[in-house]
Amino acid sequence: GVRTFDDPARAYELDRRHVFHSWSAQAALDPMVVTRAEGSHVWDGEGNRLLDFTSQLVFTNLGHQHPRIVAAIQEQAATLCTVAPGHANGARSEAARLIASHTPGDLDRIFFTNGGADANEHAIRMARLHTGRHKVLSTYRSYHGGTHLAVNVTGDPRRWASDHGATGTVHFFGPFLYRSAFSATTEEEECQRALAHLEQVIALEGPTTIAAVMLESIPGTAGIMVPPPGYLAGVRELCDRSGIMLIADEVMSGFGRAGKWFAIEHGATDRGVVPDLLTFAKGVNSGYVPLGGVAISGAIQRTFDDRVYPGGLTYSGHPLACAAAVATIETMEDDAVVEQAARLGDEVLGPGLAELAARHEWIGEVRGTGAFWAVEMVADRATREPLAPYGASSPEMNAILAACRRRGMLPFANFNRIHVVPPLTITPDEARAGLAILDAAIGEVSAKQR
Ligand code: PLP
Repeated sequence: GVRTFDDPARAYELDRRHVFHSWSAQAALDPMVVTRAEGSHVWDGEGNRLLDFTSQLVFTNLGHQHPRIVAAIQEQAATLCTVAPGHANGARSEAARLIASHTPGDLDRIFFTNGGADANEHAIRMARLHTGRHKVLSTYRSYHGGTHLAVNVTGDPRRWASDHGATGTVHFFGPFLYRSAFSATTEEEECQRALAHLEQVIALEGPTTIAAVMLESIPGTAGIMVPPPGYLAGVRELCDRSGIMLIADEVMSGFGRAGKWFAIEHGATDRGVVPDLLTFAKGVNSGYVPLGGVAISGAIQRTFDDRVYPGGLTYSGHPLACAAAVATIETMEDDAVVEQAARLGDEVLGPGLAELAARHEWIGEVRGTGAFWAVEMVADRATREPLAPYGASSPEMNAILAACRRRGMLPFANFNRIHVVPPLTITPDEARAGLAILDAAIGEVSAKQR
């Protein structure tokens, strides 16, 4: 018979004995067992149903167990589970075509990886070989992955333990008006000063030494800071001036999360903002099977027409992952899921979170777009002192998260922020129910502090 691994007590016991978890001290871990999931809900080991306001790690964009994706994986598994990367394969070819049909400009050839970090590693390698330059500029308050170079271009505390041995990684400040590095008071000022700052960093580092500027089109884990109008176009212009490649990391923000196929479309001016390389993972197939990749511009493609690209991986374009991507993208097209995410933001999450902010002193700001929102929790609205320090948690934040779970909602948190990042396919009623739980949880914990 089929093994269902359906004993939660055994899953927990074996996990604690044999599984080593990411980004954690192992001894005190108490992982929630997930036994099943459907749509926007997961079930824990005790049979409690929780509304998934996390999309796990912001990747189940079409929700759990979507029948079209499950069927595509099953059909591909029954036909051909796997091939070596050097062969051509229908699932991979079709996934590449579909992805290329949605990426901006002439980014129409895809190098597939296993996830986001290795996509960023390869994008940087391509930019370095294409330009013959070495340095990579990236922002503080960013996340680009856990492998060595990817964590070194990252700008969050997870870099601190590993920031040695990767040469040429330079950090700068991106725009973030609520905690402005430039003492700006308007989005316009923040945009202009952030661009002047980047211009100066490029000049002082030496424009001819810089291979790439890498940034998240909308920084995700670091706080969902939607850049002000004109910022991404301005970065593109600065890069063009000095022959620097622009790498857009759309691992979290891509595939509808931000209410567009890719979040860089939010930065569009008349001629649009087209990066030289665009990296993706997560939402490309709702994370059902590991998959990431790099979309490559025509100019960079030509660099490797007659020159060997020195990089590759065993599972590049794995048929099961690519079949899941084809089903995901076709479903997004057929069901207008990107438009649905945009409406969810405009009509439910945006207005609903604004109401919460009006009610709770602890909410300093809410910001976002589509199904991609951050709630900035502060101990003091005037000083904007975070409710948990940078890089840490706090009893207040932990109590709010516990209250959300107790009330039936799985929340996503990073330091002093709660991110509202449900599946793009969540219904308006489910989304409102989740916001009501967040409202009650913040109310319950803040009332105790008075
Ligand atoms: N880039 C961004 C913007 C991410 O959010 C993440 C993961 O959260 C990554 C890269 C790394 O992706 P992966 O964990 O698949 O390596």
